Amino acid sequence: MHTVKAISLDLDDTLWPIWPIIERAEAALHDFLLAHAPVTAEQFPVPAMRHVREQIAQAHPELAHDFTAQRKLSLQHAFHLSGESDALIEPAFDAFFRARNDVTLYSDCLPALDRLAARFPLIGLTNGNADLGRTGIGHYFIGCISARDVGTAKPHPPIFEATSQALGIAPQYILHVGDDPWLDVQGAHDAGFRSAWINRTGAVWPAEIMPPHLTITTLLQLAERLEKVSA
Ligand SMILES: [Mg+2]
Repeated sequence: MHTVKAISLDLDDTLWPIWPIIERAEAALHDFLLAHAPVTAEQFPVPAMRHVREQIAQAHPELAHDFTAQRKLSLQHAFHLSGESDALIEPAFDAFFRARNDVTLYSDCLPALDRLAARFPLIGLTNGNADLGRTGIGHYFIGCISARDVGTAKPHPPIFEATSQALGIAPQYILHVGDDPWLDVQGAHDAGFRSAWINRTGAVWPAEIMPPHLTITTLLQLAERLEKVSA
């Protein structure tokens, strides 16, 4: 592998599995509603609230990169229909967001971050709305670039360009690591980044897109590969 001077890391499904977290966060939101907005809780159990969010996402393609805005708009909609106060939007979102950042890391994540961060500047690069500082692993990273902050999501180049700028390192020296062939690998290539596909699930590479520079099954394998290259 060509010289790597920095690493950008996808978060959801790269550092932690996302679906268990979303399910816990939706349950935490529902618990909040049961306690503070019982009519909304009754009218919008978890599946109904999920449906509202999907409808909001469809109705607002301009918010495709901003899950926080989608979630708050869904709450506003639900409070409106139930007749309860939308002063609860922020505290309800906080209940969701606390659980959303209470992540359970993949078991290889911490030992790999120790080794990678010792040798490279690391930066988060996410379409999601996790707050790295609140997840407890922020100290490994020099920062985090999110679709919400940039205004466009992966695979589009601007979010990768913002990452390169934040690092102060040219794209060809940055290795982007992520689980999604389209969003992470193809997006990285389109922006001139190197790519590593983390395939934790034994997925088959989609034939229609250019393969990654590196395929790994764990982050520890990535640390090993990069240590070997520089040895
Ligand atoms: Mg991902």
